[in-house]
Amino acid sequence: MALAFPLSVAAALSARPAAVQADAAPPGETGAAPEAVLPPDDEMKLIAITFDDGPRRSTTTRLLDGLAERGVQATFFLIGEQVEGNEDVLKRMDDEGHQIGIHTYDHVKLTGLNKTDFDAQVDRTRSILKGVLGHNDFLLRPPYGMTDNGVKTWAGCPIILWSIDPEDWKDQNAPREVRQIVSEAKDGDIILMHDIFSASVDAALQVIDQLHAKGFLFCTIDELYAARHIDLEPGEVYWNAYP
Ligand SMILES: [Zn+2]
Repeated sequence: MALAFPLSVAAALSARPAAVQADAAPPGETGAAPEAVLPPDDEMKLIAITFDDGPRRSTTTRLLDGLAERGVQATFFLIGEQVEGNEDVLKRMDDEGHQIGIHTYDHVKLTGLNKTDFDAQVDRTRSILKGVLGHNDFLLRPPYGMTDNGVKTWAGCPIILWSIDPEDWKDQNAPREVRQIVSEAKDGDIILMHDIFSASVDAALQVIDQLHAKGFLFCTIDELYAARHIDLEPGEVYWNAYP
């Protein structure tokens, strides 16, 4: 029973009392018990929040600050060409326990490509990320969620889509996004957002506070599937981890 996952959730929980003391501690958290007791695996409501299209220094940094205050780890799917000049932001993500994935080099559809063009998007970005972070275990999220046999054959890693899409890029309306996500959220969902928009950062942090109050625990994609005893396989597509 001593899985890596409960340990990391325990770490997240133990970080929450610290958030209570922070200036930005959200109302409602002030009564948090200092010694949280973990429910059994099968009673935890788990959810993963994921961010595409970054890094963008201003908004991504503000998001990382907010996640750190709340003891939450997220998953980021990055654009390769935006890494240069933001290497410190990537290292911070990695150091603070967030999971990192590939979202192509310059945000093209991956379907219909030949192997050379696919590699110029995915393998090139994988090499860039490895050059900064020193490891090579990155997930893939294809732009627009579009996959075909070529994508599945050449991905070389699990392909992660989503089950909640507030279309935050469309109106950049934080209150609407928060209402939609909180009303849809279920155990095992994967939320799609974009950390390049200021409104999305506002919305994400409010969503985290509201779902914490409803008993959800936020985790990375790897943690979510580990908790459900599902092995993520290269080339396979995943939308959620419903119990
Ligand atoms: Zn995208």
